[in-house]
Amino acid sequence: MHCPCCQTSTLTRARLDEHLAVHACQTCEGQWVSSYDYWHWLEWQTDSGKVKSCQSMERHDPTKTSDNRRASFCPECNHLMRRAKVGHGLTFYLDRCSHCGGNWFDKGEWQILKAHNIHDKVHLVFSEPWQSQLRQAEFNRVLEETYRSALGDEDYAQALSIRAWLEQHPHRDYILSVLNQVPPIEDESRYIPVQHAQPQNDCPKEDGHDHAIACGHGVHPKPYDYPQPAK
Ligand SMILES: [Zn+2]
Ligand SMILES: [Zn+2]
Repeated sequence: MHCPCCQTSTLTRARLDEHLAVHACQTCEGQWVSSYDYWHWLEWQTDSGKVKSCQSMERHDPTKTSDNRRASFCPECNHLMRRAKVGHGLTFYLDRCSHCGGNWFDKGEWQILKAHNIHDKVHLVFSEPWQSQLRQAEFNRVLEETYRSALGDEDYAQALSIRAWLEQHPHRDYILSVLNQVPPIEDESRYIPVQHAQPQNDCPKEDGHDHAIACGHGVHPKPYDYPQPAK
């Protein structure tokens, strides 16, 4: 089995963590964890109910990785491996074979995942909910940057303060209505309805709407017909 990063180096059996066997590259120090080995380890993790300390690879600087950004192929089945961003403050990507489910960790990645308690969630990193959450977080970050750039830090903080005040205000809808200069759209029970003409009794179409104006059927009060809030 050859290293998917170096491509020529042969992977040798090693141990990445307690109960976690891997195939390691002596050249780039990356590790291949087969699907079987990962799930076997995860099952043990779940059963033991605790995270064991890393013993064999702790000589690596846990703040650095050598994230390999090239597309690479699975050392087991030779299918193209999928890349997925980890997120949650981590900037590197993980590689996983979508065919056999094996995982490739570049040098240092496992230690960082473990420090962030994500090492037992590697399979979730490749899930749609995980990636969707990352996209939403990135969208929020860009949005905040846009606001700060346009408003400046002080006015942006003021806007946040107003929003917090507004969100808990009992008459939030009215205040929004004032700010937007549009009539309130909401709870009609707070208004006294305007009396409308009664429909003609001899109309043959009880539920017709095309003649509603003429006979009064189907005519409902509109928001601007409710001018007075109830006391
Ligand atoms: Zn290698
Ligand atoms: Zn594979």
